[in-house]
This record gives sequence, C-alpha cells and structure tokens, in this order.
Amino acid sequence: MSSSGPENLDAFRAQLRDWLDANAEHAPRRQVLAPQDDAAVGRWRGWQARLADAGYAGITWPGAYGGSDGTPAQRVAVEQELTARGLSGVFDFIGIEMVGPTILVHGTEEQRDRYVHPLLRGDETWCQLLSEPGAGSDLAAVQSRARLQDDGSWVVNGQKVWTSFAQHAAFGILLARTDTEVAKHKGLSMFVVPMDAEGVTIRPLRQITGDAEFNEVFLDDVRLARDSIIGAPGEGWRVALTMLGFERVGVGSGLHATPLDRLVAAVHASEDRDDAGVRVRLGQVASELLALRHTSERVVEEIAEGHVPGPEAGLIKITSVTASLAACRLAVDVAGPEALVDDEWGHQVSALPGVRSAGGTEEILRNLIGERVLGLPPEPRVPTKAA
Ligand SMILES: Cc1cc2nc3c(=O)[nH]c(=O)nc-3n(C[C@H](O)[C@H](O)[C@H](O)COP(=O)(O)OP(=O)(O)OC[C@H]3O[C@@H](n4cnc5c(N)ncnc54)[C@H](O)[C@@H]3O)c2cc1C
Repeated sequence: MSSSGPENLDAFRAQLRDWLDANAEHAPRRQVLAPQDDAAVGRWRGWQARLADAGYAGITWPGAYGGSDGTPAQRVAVEQELTARGLSGVFDFIGIEMVGPTILVHGTEEQRDRYVHPLLRGDETWCQLLSEPGAGSDLAAVQSRARLQDDGSWVVNGQKVWTSFAQHAAFGILLARTDTEVAKHKGLSMFVVPMDAEGVTIRPLRQITGDAEFNEVFLDDVRLARDSIIGAPGEGWRVALTMLGFERVGVGSGLHATPLDRLVAAVHASEDRDDAGVRVRLGQVASELLALRHTSERVVEEIAEGHVPGPEAGLIKITSVTASLAACRLAVDVAGPEALVDDEWGHQVSALPGVRSAGGTEEILRNLIGERVLGLPPEPRVPTKAA
C-alpha cells in the first residue's frame, strides 16, 4: 500500500469500494456520539476489527505494528468512502487517531509491542484522561498527582472529567503532575492506566442526547507499574502536544460535516420547501458547507503531501460544527418537533454543541487563529507556575 501516485490511489479506492460493497452490511451507521448499549458497541468494535484485518485501520502505521505502511492520501480516501456511504469508521477513534500514534512516537519497544496491535483491532480500547474540573483549555494546570515510590512504581490521586468512552476502555492515557517545583508545563508526565486497576472509579455523565458518552474518573491511590510511564518523567507536556497534533490531523480533514445533499433532500421532502425564509436559510447553510468542502479539500491535499495541518485547521473544525448545527436545526424545523424525539437530525442538534468544546473550544481555536495565522496581538496568558 505504500505507493502514493494518483493511479495507485485510484486503484486503492477501487479495491476499497469493492471491499465495502462486500462488507458494508456489518458497519454501523455514522453518528456524532456513540451508542451506549453493549450490543451496539460490540457490533461497532467488530466493524473496527474487520477494517483492521483488511488493512483499512491504522493505514499509515508501520507494518511491524499491524499497520499498512500506507499514505495519508489513502487514509483520507478511506474516510471519504465511509462518509459518502454514511458508515462509521473505527469505534476507538481516540486509540487509533491519537493514542496509538503517540505510543509509536514516544513509547518504548515493549510498550509498542504490548499495546498497539490490540488497540488497532479494538480488542482493547482507550480513553484520554487529560481534562480535569480545573484544567480544560488550560490543560497544563492539571492537578492529578503521581508520586514516585521507592520501588520505582507510581501512586496516582486525582479526578478527571469528560473522559469519553472510559466505560468501555481497557486503558487510559493519563496526564498527571509529577513535580510541583517547576514551571507547570515541565512538571507533568504521561502514564498508561489500566481502567480496571484498584482505585479507579468511573461515573457516567448523562448528556442531553440521552447518552452517557463521557464520564468522571476518580483515581484514589492507584498504583502504576514502573514501566507505565510514556516518555521520561517531566516529558508529559511534550507527549501531550504530540497527541494533540495527531488530533488536529483528524479534525483538519473536516470530513465529518453534514452532507449537503441529505439536507437538500430533507427540505425538498417537507411542506415548507417553497417558504422564502427556509430557502434563505438553506442557501446560507449550503454556502457554508460548500466553502467548507473546498477548504477541507485543500487541507486534505496538504495532508496527502505529508504536511501536518497548522492552527488554520481550527477554522475547519469551527465551521464544520457551526454549519452542521445550522443544517440540523433547519432539517428539524422543517420536519417538525417529532424529529427531535427519535431522529438522527434531532440527535445531532443535541450532540453538536458539545463537539464545539471537545478537543479545543471554539474561543481557544479562534484565539490561536488570531495569534498564529493573522498575527494579532496575543491574549493575556495565565500564570506559568502550577498552583
Ligand atoms: C463531547 C466532549 C468529549 C470530550 N472528551 C474528552 C476526553 O475524552 N478526554 C479529555 O480529557 N477531555 C475531553 N473533553 C474535554 C474537552 O477537552 C474540554 O471540554 C475542553 O478542553 C474545554 O475545557 P473546559 O470544558 O474545562 O472549559 P474551560 O476551559 O473552563 O472553558 C470554559 C469557557 O471559557 C472559554 N475560555 C477558556 N479559556 C479562554 C481563553 N483563554 N480565551 C477565551 N475563552 C476562553 C472556553 O472557550 C469555554 O467557552 C471532552 C469534551 C466534550 C465536550
């Protein structure tokens, strides 16, 4: 899979389409947040294993760790083909898109061998134990504390919040403070936490969608083995930045926006299709979604050439969420209130506002664009010392 020329990409796509024709019946439909019942989760994990076994998960990962040695263009092609058919990708996108690549960069050989392959198939899924009640946008303010013991093991105490999919995860990747005497970014370390370890308590948080996709996680005297640290003590911020960089590649492609054709079909099917107000709203949303599509295509080309998207990719995330939300609201308005009860559009109307905050809030992304892309004067900064 390693050749990247356009003809090879066409051949890759053709093969992928054939494979999807034969296997799509096993795929769950694409949706914003995960279903919570065990049967649905099991089906989705099974779909991930199927994708991985066919070489369509972890495409750019080295073959030695179960990947396909493929190109970023192939990775994007898979995402595009799945999106076009309204099918889900992998269940554990946190593991595949963020944790796995981070372990490949910063983990030891033993850690790569232990964690990466089961992660790829979804046999062991992962969650990110980063945000805390007092550390979200200002992530380096993390207060969870890991203390080194005489025998080289660590004992962790603290609380995490908004931990997506913790209830399904075998492991969490944990950012914790190991040194309070240095500047706050320098006193952090990254660990692997078995989610069934003694002292780990997971409490689901029920959302307006009705799902409990994310959780509070309490860590009380959780003992972690010496080899559970990823990178050296004090390197946690560097590891976190690598992980957030991988997240940006995923978000940067902007492939998750609402398909315009579905919205047009919903409006056409409604009695309000000739209403002037509805047509104006449809025009506005359509222009946003089309502009987004072209911007995404430019970024996708850059990804295909091996560039990691910069802060400008944040604009794609912002537009993708706001335009998709406007599209869903319009679809629900023309369909009537019953669409809010049991309908994909209605579900997304409730789910999308949360996505606005996930992985960097809209305000933070706008600040980054202002400072790093437009060169505007910097925002006031919070103190650099840990409290
Ligand atoms: C659906 C979802 C899934 C998530 N999954 C995970 C997960 O799996 N693991 C995990 O660790 N975290 C997860 N998060 C947490 C997410 O990363 C945080 O919500 C995000 O970083 C914001 O942090 P906060 O919620 O503490 O808000 P805060 O940082 O407290 O911000 C509150 C408000 O203040 C604004 N604000 C803050 N600082 C500034 C500033 N400097 N300038 C301007 N405005 C500012 C923000 O934009 C926001 O509107 C998830 C969140 C959501 C919504």
